[in-house]
Amino acid sequence: MDKLTALKTYFGYDSFREGQEELIDALCAGRDVFGVMPTGAGKSLCYQIPAVLLGGITLVVSPLISLMKDQVGALNQAGIRACYLNSSLSYRQYRLALQYAAEGKYRIAYVAPERLLTPEFLAFAQSADIRLLCVDEAHCVSQWGHDFRPAYLDIARFVELLPKRPTMAAFTATATRAVRKDILKLLGLTQPMLKTTGFDRKNLHFSVITPPDKYRALKRQIDRHAEEDSGIVYCLTRKAVEEVCEQLVADGYSATRYHAGLEDTERGQNQDDFRFDRKKIMVATNAFGMGIDKSNVRYVIHYHMPKNMESYYQEAGRAGRDGLPSDCVLLFAERDVAIGRFIIEHAGEDGEPRDPERVAQEIDLLMKMESYCKTTDCLRAYILRYFGEDAPEECGACSNCEGDFVVADVTDRAEKILGCVTTCRERFGAGVIADTVRGSSSQKLKLNRMDKNPYYAALCTETDEQIHALIDHLCVRGYLTRDTEGLPVLRLTARGTDVLNGIERVTMRTEKMPERPIARKSLRGTLFETLRVLRLELAKREFVPPYAVFSDNTLQQMSEKRPHDEDELLAISGVGQTKLKKYGKLFLDAIRNFEDEI
Ligand code: ADP
Ligand code: MG
Repeated sequence: MDKLTALKTYFGYDSFREGQEELIDALCAGRDVFGVMPTGAGKSLCYQIPAVLLGGITLVVSPLISLMKDQVGALNQAGIRACYLNSSLSYRQYRLALQYAAEGKYRIAYVAPERLLTPEFLAFAQSADIRLLCVDEAHCVSQWGHDFRPAYLDIARFVELLPKRPTMAAFTATATRAVRKDILKLLGLTQPMLKTTGFDRKNLHFSVITPPDKYRALKRQIDRHAEEDSGIVYCLTRKAVEEVCEQLVADGYSATRYHAGLEDTERGQNQDDFRFDRKKIMVATNAFGMGIDKSNVRYVIHYHMPKNMESYYQEAGRAGRDGLPSDCVLLFAERDVAIGRFIIEHAGEDGEPRDPERVAQEIDLLMKMESYCKTTDCLRAYILRYFGEDAPEECGACSNCEGDFVVADVTDRAEKILGCVTTCRERFGAGVIADTVRGSSSQKLKLNRMDKNPYYAALCTETDEQIHALIDHLCVRGYLTRDTEGLPVLRLTARGTDVLNGIERVTMRTEKMPERPIARKSLRGTLFETLRVLRLELAKREFVPPYAVFSDNTLQQMSEKRPHDEDELLAISGVGQTKLKKYGKLFLDAIRNFEDEI
């Protein structure tokens, strides 16, 4: 079999994506490779096809159980025999899997790095016909990466203990220079073919919104998608995850949550609800995601600014792996910068002060992230240049290129806040000032006689969040300062006085409001949805996530092209021989029935 036949037979695709072919060729010729490609680029195929073509067994070292399960599920769906060897198996299951692997029943075995040097696994590996050893998420070997996993350091030692060195492959999506050097050295790759593909993900649409009210903006963003669409909402803290998720559920959305503070069982359950499309929205901290290969994530919304561009691009990149158009939205507020700073400065364990150099480095990355949120230039260009690539001035498909924001004159509102700060003789912080202009009836205001302030209730139609966003903006732009010694008291600056004297006007970048509220679409009644329902049934029966049966992209093409026989079905990207045999008739029938009914 040649590589193109393998691509079509097992995966149903007609052509290779950028970089895949060269990597496959090199591996088949026995040369080590190192592939640096963004999330969703299709790294798995680069070792899965050689595994089929080379024969023997291919070992894949992978950091996460969920990742292994997904991949093994997908491979078996595609007709390639695969297994995983990790702690989710009972001892008996593990023994059995090893025995089958030794008997040559599997082409591909996924293994956790911690297993490699155990006597039992080593004994198996020393007698097995290992042709290829692949290290996925290879940045885990480096302390400079964000997912350092000490057991990855055992890989090189493991290879030395094999009677014959297999060809080696390493793949990662994030590799700064330091990480790249570590991967080459610590994994012991020999003169590997290095392939770095472009970081651009053309099907992703990027936007940054500075909304007056984040939660409302979040709902608006979700509502732009069909009810059936899957999406991830990233929050910076566990508390925010709980709040946002609870609110969404209360508002009738199909949402679940994930963060490191939850019990293992709930976390696993929620993650599966999302993978299997039982829940559409996952609200999570950055703890969620590395193990997720779910291909039909239609949007990733950041509720807060993340701590650096690396994290942002990796998280946002979880949208649209199937190649369909998908949205990456960042909801920004000035306050996010302060929160980010706080987290960095206080991240030391047990209250230990952090290494100042490291802190400075992280603050620097945070500031570059802040610049992304504030630039009015092309967002895609910013991202690509950040990762060291050239980019055209405009992509035409991000919120800045499309002019999705307005620079509004907010002088009127600013005057009320600045006025309030001066008339109370600069004695209070943002909390009291915001309560005053909002017209709160709190006891604290009465005690301080702020309910008699001339600006009391001057902004009574605004929400607390809107007012705080404006105060933050006034601080950042230098109309107000926050006294940092003692209590954080707000004071007017000379610029602030200019505003009150009518000399200067205040502008603020904000989200362009849609003319009409968006009515949520539903896919109900479409052929696409009919096929999705069928897919869900099949997936349930086989205990795999729906996207492992067919991707959204494949179903969409089926509903557009409406194939009527096996040949037409096979011409659709994502339909290979195995799946044709297994599901072909069912899907052809569904299409025919749908046409008969309308
Ligand atoms: P990565 O590991 O680089 O993040 P994956 O290997 O998970 O990406 O692949 C992402 C998606 O792209 C998967 O759904 C995969 O089936 C699909 N894919 C990979 N190669 C191709 C190809 N040549 N044509 C079409 N789809 C592909
Ligand atoms: Mg991958």
